[in-house]
Amino acid sequence: MNAATKWLIRDAYQSGEPPHEIALRFDLPETDVNRALRSLKKAKKPAPKERSCKPVTFRVVLINYDADLRKALIEKLRTTPLYLDWRRKVLKLDRYRCRECGNKGRLQVDHIYPLSAIIHNYQINSLEEAAECELIWRVSNGRTLCAICHSRTDTHGAKAKRLWVTANEVD
Ligand SMILES: [Zn+2]
Repeated sequence: MNAATKWLIRDAYQSGEPPHEIALRFDLPETDVNRALRSLKKAKKPAPKERSCKPVTFRVVLINYDADLRKALIEKLRTTPLYLDWRRKVLKLDRYRCRECGNKGRLQVDHIYPLSAIIHNYQINSLEEAAECELIWRVSNGRTLCAICHSRTDTHGAKAKRLWVTANEVD
């Protein structure tokens, strides 16, 4: 199970969805869901200084969804000092090398739980809302990859859309 799916499972659990329902929705055995939840409980909690965002419930039907607005928002977000600071922290942690192949060239910093999926699933509509979303700024949700390894991930670009929660999945 990839890390992004684990985070989605945790978020669903935290918004009150019982494990057996999560298992049904993700088409996974319930034992896998419970294992994912246990492994995340062991993960280090974010420092108290970090802001936390309130995950939207997965029962919410997405209304007023504006793909262009969110795309523009992501572009704007990538130029903010907060974003550049997060990027620097991840690069430093990974010692300025691709985490997959160790290359030092053409490095990109990627959100493991993809940024577009966060923006979509948490219904973030402004830079202010993004600033309040701890998951975007969690250093452990970042990884340094070279352009080639990045393009090979199962969440690269539009491929991240499979992690978007859609209105169809809600009911
Ligand atoms: Zn690489």
